[in-house]
Amino acid sequence: PPDNLHAEVLVLGAGPGGYTAAFRAADLGKQVVLIERYPVLGGVCLNVGCIPSKALLHIAKILTEAQAVREVGIEFGQPAINLEQLRHWKDGVVKKLAQGLSMLAKQRQVTVIQGSGKFISPNALTVETPDGIKTISFDHCVIAAGSSSARLPGLPKDPRIINSTDALALHTLPKRMLIIGGGIIGLEMATVYQALGTKISIVERLPQLIPGADSDLIKPLVSKLKQTCEAIWLDTSVSQIEASKKGLKVSFSGEQAPEAQWFDMVLVAIGRRPNDKLIAAESAGVAVDERGFITVDEQMRTNAAHIFAIGDITGEPMLAHKASHQGKIAAEVIAGHKVAFDARTIPSVAYTDPEIAWMGLTETEAKKQGIAYEKASFPWAASGRAIAMGSETGLTKLLYDKTTRRILGAGITGVNAGELIAEATLALEMGADMQDIALTIHPHPTLSETIMFAAETAEGVITDLY
Ligand code: FAD
Repeated sequence: PPDNLHAEVLVLGAGPGGYTAAFRAADLGKQVVLIERYPVLGGVCLNVGCIPSKALLHIAKILTEAQAVREVGIEFGQPAINLEQLRHWKDGVVKKLAQGLSMLAKQRQVTVIQGSGKFISPNALTVETPDGIKTISFDHCVIAAGSSSARLPGLPKDPRIINSTDALALHTLPKRMLIIGGGIIGLEMATVYQALGTKISIVERLPQLIPGADSDLIKPLVSKLKQTCEAIWLDTSVSQIEASKKGLKVSFSGEQAPEAQWFDMVLVAIGRRPNDKLIAAESAGVAVDERGFITVDEQMRTNAAHIFAIGDITGEPMLAHKASHQGKIAAEVIAGHKVAFDARTIPSVAYTDPEIAWMGLTETEAKKQGIAYEKASFPWAASGRAIAMGSETGLTKLLYDKTTRRILGAGITGVNAGELIAEATLALEMGADMQDIALTIHPHPTLSETIMFAAETAEGVITDLY
């Protein structure tokens, strides 16, 4: 590209938020420049997040299921793990999708510029590209700079203390690994490494794993982890790590803190921080709050009317489907469409074993805010399909309004909960009530029936064993 360029729409960051915004703006006839500091498109989600983690979780599932069928009389030998080949396959999955994105950008004539972008004024930024600094002016800008792993202060610099990106790189399989942080990312990594043979311990500062999810939903996961992990310490923090040749000596604090323990590797998964420091937002006059997030209105506008922000950099929940949805809205608003972000819910999924998914109102939130609700649950121990899949500990629950009987929220734990929650999300968006769901014929025998059965329970229909 030339040294000076003008963009009708400039998108900063090519994660799921940024590439979606760029593609939609181009489809709506805008001339778009997309800036990404890395040589590949896709951001965290594609390169070091959603996709590589789900590829490895797929393999983890095969390994654990192969073990589980021992109970029904089928025994496989110990798996021989070729780490290099596994890594190569996982990288191939990512590469295939990244190439697809590059093609889609080309087809739409989106100009992709590799380099770090920094605002220099409300209508321009500079990009440090491999062949020099370029200045790009713009009419509209979409900030989609995303987030990075949060660091735990005070830890020594040591290659055995890693973050989720390092964990997904799959360089080595440690014998004993401590995971700091019992949130979704930490537990997904626990699931992967455990299946590959690493002994896992988990330490969580709060009293519950996956804080934010209802405790009945995480119960089956917790009881499984209790069987398979070396230790789970709740209400406990890491106070110090001493690195030596022998390993990493980790000290803990908290009322139930254990004695100091030795590990071969420590994964820090304590959350993510916005990449606000990378973009010099202040030069564009864009306000950043004290946590580094950019506040936006329902049209994704920042305080500067021609600059928009989407995705992780706008705050929680930090999820790819939120980023891409916001990306579409920003592009459409720029193209003059009368649209706004009015999603009634953003579903959450932990792709653990079992999976946990929820959307809309949670019981935790309802109790905190004093919101009245009714609950209908269907335990998977009464689902034919769940029993046939050895997944009896699952649970489907629906929360609904007592008067209107409309769905308010749903939580599912068990195989494929992440796929199943989509139906409940649609029901919420469509304003469906319990009768709508109960009277909808679901295919038998499927796990999706558990949603219908829960609604039938709400309608007073007694659902026996199916
Ligand atoms: P990002 O994906 O962070 O992309 C921002 C991009 O901007 C990056 O490529 C960055 O290099 C670039 N950038 C930043 N600053 C500059 C600059 N100054 N100049 C040029 N480029 C810049 N979410 C889900 O919904 N489902 C999941 O299963 C899931 N799994 C995850 C697993 C892991 C291990 C992790 C870490 C995250 C996971 N997430 C998941 C979260 C998801 O990855 C993020 O919510 C999503 O990537 C956010 O998209 P984004 O477009 O806002 O930003």
